[in-house]
Amino acid sequence: MTPDAALQEIERLREELRKHEHQYYVLDDPLISDAEYDGMMRRLESLEHAHPETITPDSPTQRVGGTPRTGTETVAHSSPMLSLENALNEEELAAFDRRVRELLPPETGDQPPLRYVAELKLDGLSMAVRYEEGQLALAITRGDGREGEVVTENARTIRSLPLRIAGEFPGLEARGEVVMPRAAFDALNHQREAEGLSLFANPRNAAAGTLRMLDARVTAARRLDYYAYYLLHHGEFALDSQWESLDTLARLGFKVNPHRRLCRNLEELLAVIREWEAQRERLPYEIDGVVVKVDSRRQQEALGSTAKAPRWAIAFKYAASQVETVLEQITVQVGRTGALTPVANLRPVAVSGVTVSRATLHNMDEIERLGVAEGDTVLIERSGDVIPKVLRVVRQGENRRFFEMPPVCPECGGNVVREPGEVAYRCVNASCPAKIRETLLHFASRPVMDIDGLGDAIVDQLLARELVRNPADLYALTVEQIEGLDRMGRKSAENLVAAIDGSRRQPLPRVISALGIRFVGERTAQLLAAAFPGMDQLMEASEEELQRADEIGPKVARCIRDYFADARNRELVERLRDAGLQFQYRAPAAAVTVEGIAGKVFVLTGTLPSLTRDEAKARIEGAGGKVTGSVSGKTDFVLAGAEAGSKLEKALALGVRVIDEAEFLAMLGA
Ligand SMILES: [Zn+2]
Repeated sequence: MTPDAALQEIERLREELRKHEHQYYVLDDPLISDAEYDGMMRRLESLEHAHPETITPDSPTQRVGGTPRTGTETVAHSSPMLSLENALNEEELAAFDRRVRELLPPETGDQPPLRYVAELKLDGLSMAVRYEEGQLALAITRGDGREGEVVTENARTIRSLPLRIAGEFPGLEARGEVVMPRAAFDALNHQREAEGLSLFANPRNAAAGTLRMLDARVTAARRLDYYAYYLLHHGEFALDSQWESLDTLARLGFKVNPHRRLCRNLEELLAVIREWEAQRERLPYEIDGVVVKVDSRRQQEALGSTAKAPRWAIAFKYAASQVETVLEQITVQVGRTGALTPVANLRPVAVSGVTVSRATLHNMDEIERLGVAEGDTVLIERSGDVIPKVLRVVRQGENRRFFEMPPVCPECGGNVVREPGEVAYRCVNASCPAKIRETLLHFASRPVMDIDGLGDAIVDQLLARELVRNPADLYALTVEQIEGLDRMGRKSAENLVAAIDGSRRQPLPRVISALGIRFVGERTAQLLAAAFPGMDQLMEASEEELQRADEIGPKVARCIRDYFADARNRELVERLRDAGLQFQYRAPAAAVTVEGIAGKVFVLTGTLPSLTRDEAKARIEGAGGKVTGSVSGKTDFVLAGAEAGSKLEKALALGVRVIDEAEFLAMLGA
């Protein structure tokens, strides 16, 4: 390739990658698969490697680069990052609204009517980013509001933050919030727990710690996100309104929170605030309130600022999700891996609208770190659907009792051991009833085999009556056996048997995760299924072979090996095979390839009249076709049912052929 052609190709790849980065990380709407994206990225890397003189800091390959930080450097903000006043209840917000209306001149013809912008108050870390000649030049934490810490290298690793801004915006600065999404936070703490490291108390602390890491590679691995909420030119707010500023940021390629609302009065503001208080746990990140700003810049200027805070904005804060209560007792729960988890039994207390009486203490190390004992008053926090956790001891109890891990399993009396290098204590009894119960519940859970109706109450009865001893027994259950259980009618028994039967069609990754091998969750199972064509190859793989799969380290590889080395586990797997579960991932070269389907790429969307999605997928693969998740130029057919959404629109926009179920069945020659 000539240098000119290489340069052209490099520029083209960068454009494409930037576009897809924006689609994926900012709009959350990928147009291509991860593999296609990775392929382009690798091609760009190899071209840049061959032509190092072409590398620019805004190339998508340069998110993680540079040298580790050696210390902290601070820089003054272009204009102070003032903190906002708080409203802790609706009366205080009403007082703010009254004050604003009193201070503003009366509404006349040339005055814009008063409007407020309501934005979610993300619970993260404020950060300003400056661009020079369109390129990300500097990222600074809020610090004390006058000057902040330089974190440019780490900020560059945040994929939703553009490295480059198109168009002429001299002196552009965006201010916004760095957050760690709940899922990334849970994964991070989960990993730290497995590695025996101390846990982060909440996503905000984790985001702050991550953004300030000395090694940007660590920051990159932890998946931070950035939402912009304020736009400046040379330190000045230069647009006509806050609403316009948010729209402009979005247009420039920043991620802007979609849940923003323009409100005419206090009632509309309160409606937004109440709505999000009820819904906040459903958001993928944490919020602690709603920020209210006067929209018009002229009105903002008329209202001005005090020394500490602007008069035209206020932060409505939700009641704390942290409260104090007494830790009455510490008990132990046995999980499916046999790990003994200490649980804090609390004096019941209301936390953000829910009564809480239990909190997790994770493990013995965590109890020691907290220095907590029975009888102490503790601060607890509830976030999302997860069980609340104990943050710290507020006051030691008078007759405090220290907790010790029981020497034998409270469920079965089996020996409890702590293996070297492990945080957890485990019950070693393979047939511990607590393990079996948790294994069955895990097996049936929605993200695993998704057996609707197989919950705690049924599992307990099945175990008590010895109808089931392991997951394979589920497939032999009859309607008559289930009908005999408490509160089970004929109809619900039939439904449960049908649900168990339906789970036979769950694909191999789910079957792998259903086995409950330590450290092998949904994602790892997915990676294993991608690396090994079927269960047999996985069962026979050596530790070295396992470690050749993506993201599988020595610890996970050893756990998989140990699992399949156990004769009882192999017997379970064989019985699951006999029960007809899916042991192959990619359909083997289809028994009958169907002309018109073989080799074609399908995308499914909407609800089909008779086939379920899994059935349609199985038919396509059985006929030699392939099913992918998103519509792209490579899609041959979109099989659309009722209430098809954006995929259908995209198919129409790209001119991809759209078929309905009847046409599909006709193609199959059914
Ligand atoms: Zn036990």
